[in-house]
Amino acid sequence: MERIPSPELTYTGTQVNYYFVCKRKLWLFSRNFEMEQTSDLVSLGSLLHEVAYSRKTKEIDLGPIKIDFLSRGPEVHDIKRSKRIEAAHIGQMLYYLYWLKRRGIVARGVIDYPLLRRRQEVKLTAEREREVERTLEEIKRVLSSPEPPPAEKKSYCRKCSYYELCWC
Ligand code: SF4
Repeated sequence: MERIPSPELTYTGTQVNYYFVCKRKLWLFSRNFEMEQTSDLVSLGSLLHEVAYSRKTKEIDLGPIKIDFLSRGPEVHDIKRSKRIEAAHIGQMLYYLYWLKRRGIVARGVIDYPLLRRRQEVKLTAEREREVERTLEEIKRVLSSPEPPPAEKKSYCRKCSYYELCWC
């Protein structure tokens, strides 16, 4: 199988997450239609983050990617509220692991769900590396369009900060 060349790793973890959540949301967010700060869910997420991991958390800002905290292994941790959009959480973590590997750091990933008292381990295999590369190519394709993808009703639209923009 032909290997897809690595695109520049300049996308943020949030962009990769939104690719899996909704391609229209990815486009709107990337064009600076930033409405996330007004979302109660985002506030709750920040609060949860501070309370649940206040002793352990030391966010590491690497530019496009922000790691909630690192533990021995090394293990890269990302804290999430619920498993509702788990595919997006896994896709985001795989991107983190891929991004780090391209810089010579081989790590494992752990998605922490403190409200559920669960953790999901994520490993970057060769096949998953190719998936990340395909995802990055797809993100590039979505963002190169002058128009956002059409709105498509999803179960989580009502909780999305772009709801009014899409449906009112
Ligand atoms: S409201 Fe629904 S369609 Fe619109 S951006 Fe959010 S998730 Fe996508």
